[in-house]
Amino acid sequence: MEVTRPSTWPTLPAVPSPAILPVIDSGLAAELAHAFGGPFHFLLPDAFTANLVAMQDALTRSGVGGFVYYAKKANKAAVFVERAAAGGAGVDVASAAELREALGHGVRGEHLMVTGPAKAPVLLRLALAHRATIAVDALDELDQVISLAPAGGARPARVLLRALPAAQQHSRFGMNESELATALKRCLAAGDAVRMEGFSFHLSGYALQPRANLTARLIGLCIDARRQGLEAGRVSIGGGLPISYTGAESWRSFLATQNPSHYHGGKTFRSTDFYPYHSPVAGADALTALLAAQPVNTHSTLANQLKNAGIELLLEPGRALLDQAGATVFTVQGVKDRDGYQILTVDGTSLSLSEQWFNSEYLPDPQLLPRDPAATTGLFPASVGAASCLESDMLTWRKIAFPQPPRAGDLLLYPNTAGYQMDSNESPFHDLPLPPKVVIDRTDQIRPRWRLDRHFT
Ligand SMILES: *Cc1c(COP(=O)(O)O)cnc(C)c1O
Repeated sequence: MEVTRPSTWPTLPAVPSPAILPVIDSGLAAELAHAFGGPFHFLLPDAFTANLVAMQDALTRSGVGGFVYYAKKANKAAVFVERAAAGGAGVDVASAAELREALGHGVRGEHLMVTGPAKAPVLLRLALAHRATIAVDALDELDQVISLAPAGGARPARVLLRALPAAQQHSRFGMNESELATALKRCLAAGDAVRMEGFSFHLSGYALQPRANLTARLIGLCIDARRQGLEAGRVSIGGGLPISYTGAESWRSFLATQNPSHYHGGKTFRSTDFYPYHSPVAGADALTALLAAQPVNTHSTLANQLKNAGIELLLEPGRALLDQAGATVFTVQGVKDRDGYQILTVDGTSLSLSEQWFNSEYLPDPQLLPRDPAATTGLFPASVGAASCLESDMLTWRKIAFPQPPRAGDLLLYPNTAGYQMDSNESPFHDLPLPPKVVIDRTDQIRPRWRLDRHFT
């Protein structure tokens, strides 16, 4: 079922990841698919470490004091927490279980950042016991923190006050101006029981300028809070550093050409439904650009404002630390013909590809790893369905332009899935086992060595 005018077919090739090649070329991917008898994820923690080092270097180069907290919710594997601890980063947790995982895998309590709304009392108690920083989301939560903190100042509660962004008035997170003013009074009144270390925010979207603007506003609030006698020396900018899954030109031409005829069932996606799969500045470069940005109504860069006020910049990246740090492999179980394309069914579900659950589509092209490389090459469109009974359980609605006809037994590799895609929605639907996570600690060898991710629970 070949398409005869391939130039009009939208494709979205993933940014190449050299570390993946040995996993494929050595035959390891096929061997693991055979060994597990189902889909699996493989993790490339060296990429995580490289991303972390690049962010820490960006802070150092700008002369701004800062600290990186890995937002753990972006992936459940232990190895990334271990790499965060080894790399001198902290971890951002939002549940008692995440906190326990972070401590158990080597992160010191004072390097934990506890975020999330209306935190469970057990989480607050653990945070206090381990001297973690608590990003307080509401006034009643602040009252609870103060009441749980031991009197006498032996172990003060370390708090940041989370701001409701003026640009995102309808967010359910954070406190507005007047609540923040009340919170400051209550921190003052709490005396030794509380160390008010500063402010935090987390913006949705990936634009840098709103982050620069809000950071500058919170620097101003820190200065005011210090006048009142509080410590207020840190601002956390949350997550949301963008990453690029594909090149600029492929993203542009994809958006210009894609239409419902390119999707199974004529499904419609508007370009605004998609994650921005290309960003002109991404990862650590986006952090550098943020620090060099000039916040609105100010006359110097964010970096200079932070340095002048002596304020430390905290960040909580999830996705950006996991860029190129993993991929997911399925086996094709069946192939069926439709009008002008095929439907592949793989041995797992879209629960292992979370984007499919947000009225959107994970767009980077999955790579076909055929059992037998074919002599014929061309363009063979196929959508990818799950081994489940749900009509909507599609791993890829789009008719992917495969270079040869896919066949049962071939592998399908979804690239760059470590950030949120692989496991945030996974459940053993249909009693299918959760895909195991294979860690490839080093990829600079001809024959990569692997092990399973290990949790100490
Ligand atoms: C989810 C989240 C993050 C991480 O966001 P990314 O987009 O993955 O960088 C950081 N901080 C908070 C408070 C979050 O909720």
